[in-house]
Amino acid sequence: MTTVYIGLGANIDGPIEQIHIALRTLKALPETQLIRCSSLYGSAPLGPEDQPDYVNAVAELETTLAPLDLLDALQAIEKTQGRIKHRHWGERCIDLDILLYGNETLNSERLNLPHHEMANRSFVVTPLLEIAPDLTLPDGQRLSQIQPEFDGDLHKLQSPVIDL
Ligand code: AMP
Repeated sequence: MTTVYIGLGANIDGPIEQIHIALRTLKALPETQLIRCSSLYGSAPLGPEDQPDYVNAVAELETTLAPLDLLDALQAIEKTQGRIKHRHWGERCIDLDILLYGNETLNSERLNLPHHEMANRSFVVTPLLEIAPDLTLPDGQRLSQIQPEFDGDLHKLQSPVIDL
């Protein structure tokens, strides 16, 4: 089993419910256990400003799925929930990113590990710190030492979702 952290984001079509649906689906993935999830946070959009605020969370999984199989599974969930590419950094009903896959580092066409932008975004770092306060990144940096460039007026919306 490898410990994996998934970033979830949504800002249209009922974002809170979209996050809940995605968490329920993650919980049902084969070879995978949903260990815990952060609170849900609200944040101002990164990129185009003429779009609704985002709801973000981070989930911890344990899985024996290989990284690309996990990415396939996440992209299938996005498709099932009706994700359409509107524009770069634009609105989406669900976005699922692999933030960390154990201590693996990978730079390939389809998958970068750790996720390239994770340390720059408080809507990733803050929920991740909530569920993994002692986390160290594969390069040895402590997550608690990171100061993300993008703040996005982050605020807590809802306690961790326990009863999925
Ligand atoms: P996005 O629009 O943020 O969902 O980005 C999707 C694209 O990022 C897909 O084509 C993925 O193959 C690629 N990608 C690269 N690294 C990752 C990662 N760690 N997690 C999710 N998608 C990734």
